[in-house]
Amino acid sequence: MEKTLLQKAYSPEDFRTRGHHLIDQLADHLEAHMHDNSTKTLNWHLPEDERVFWGEFLENGNESELFGRILNRITAVHNPKCIGHQVTPTIPITALTAMMSALLNNGMAVYEMGMAPSAMERIVTDLLCKKIGYDEVSRGFLTSGGTLANLTALLSARKAVVKNDIWNDGHDQALGIMVSAEAHYCVDRAAKVMGLGENGIIKIPATPEFRMDTDILENEIKKAKAKGITVFAIVGSAPSTATGVYDDLEAIATFAQRHGLWFHVDGAHGGAAIFSEKYRHTVTGIDKADSVVIDGHKMMMLPTITTALLFKDGNHGQATFSQKADYLLVQSEDEDWYNKAKRTFECTKNMMSIHWYTIYKIYGEAIFDEYVTNLYDMGTAFGEIIAKEPNFELAISPNSNIICFRYVDTSLELSTLNEINAKLRQHLLEEGEFYIVQTKLRGIQYLRCTVMNPFTTTAHFKTLLNNIKSKLENILSH
Ligand SMILES: *Cc1c(COP(=O)(O)O)cnc(C)c1O
Repeated sequence: MEKTLLQKAYSPEDFRTRGHHLIDQLADHLEAHMHDNSTKTLNWHLPEDERVFWGEFLENGNESELFGRILNRITAVHNPKCIGHQVTPTIPITALTAMMSALLNNGMAVYEMGMAPSAMERIVTDLLCKKIGYDEVSRGFLTSGGTLANLTALLSARKAVVKNDIWNDGHDQALGIMVSAEAHYCVDRAAKVMGLGENGIIKIPATPEFRMDTDILENEIKKAKAKGITVFAIVGSAPSTATGVYDDLEAIATFAQRHGLWFHVDGAHGGAAIFSEKYRHTVTGIDKADSVVIDGHKMMMLPTITTALLFKDGNHGQATFSQKADYLLVQSEDEDWYNKAKRTFECTKNMMSIHWYTIYKIYGEAIFDEYVTNLYDMGTAFGEIIAKEPNFELAISPNSNIICFRYVDTSLELSTLNEINAKLRQHLLEEGEFYIVQTKLRGIQYLRCTVMNPFTTTAHFKTLLNNIKSKLENILSH
């Protein structure tokens, strides 16, 4: 009998066959990128060429080649020469949990729409709270990305600190948050979404070392008050994205306490340092934060997009979106921690918790320490290599696994140097051997590396540097 399209699409046998084949392809992909040093990180194509290719493939491509073609036309994050953005090479087991999440599709808005993942989410977020140094009233949840988590945290902050019921009544008073000028742009965006306006985002200038200048906080809040702005929160970066520099969380906590502000830590990138015995000191003071964001898809080896938002006092996380004041539910009989959508921005969401839980179960918490420590060690090591190079300089000695450096020649003007460094980066991208990125700090163009792969070594970095030098010769001779 002729099968309908739907019958074909839902055939368990078809899924089994394709699935086995794909797992083999993915394992081959890992092997090629992780164990064969000659495999390029990416094959560069211009956006328009790529669009044409996929348009053409949709028309005429052989269906059996689809997954293979995708594999050949991506940026391979598992390649140790992929040292660009803060994207983690996922632990392969999480590809399996991601597949489970996609197939089982338990959205978890309410408990019975995802019983196991809802319970696992409580367990995983409790473990994270404990690691931060929080106590029994602390609670968290998982949400779709650091951007959304930061917005949610600031909404919780406003609800908790500002006297008026803005959620229900709207606001006509001038409100503000304080944040380092070096913070991730999503904090700015969150503030704008909340209607704080440009004046409500009090950007604290950074020190020459790119850290929030906490010495001027008193003066800045005085200035804000004089303008009639009620400041309700301060955000610390752990670390900031461009430079990987950690703010002084302890100093910010003290300031926040003195002024009754909500203290939020954007640890999207480096909050996971709570797991590293060696680098835990980078987040000293994090336990004093009212809320903390940690991206699983950055420093915890989980698939995109998987973020934890953790509250020192879980009641605040409970109250963010509530119409009435249902405070003090945590640890009461009425605490329905298992109905997630009450607290999260999302209604339906991924079964993110199963990735975290699986890693805890199979490898244990120690793997996070190993990962973070290894990457931060490499950040330091790369920094030391650059520091020894006469024609290169660091923006800042690395605090983490993010390294910003550039080619310098004192006889050249800044604009020429910026051009040369931008060209270098473009040439590297087009070659595709290594993947690194770039950033502009205070008008200066830098090459930027983030070590996300625990198998990237100083040998890779030295090869990259030699590669850069030969490209320089070429650029400078033209
Ligand atoms: C990456 C990053 C974000 C944004 O997180 P997404 O998960 O990409 O939305 C926010 N803050 C910092 C410090 C980051 O590094």
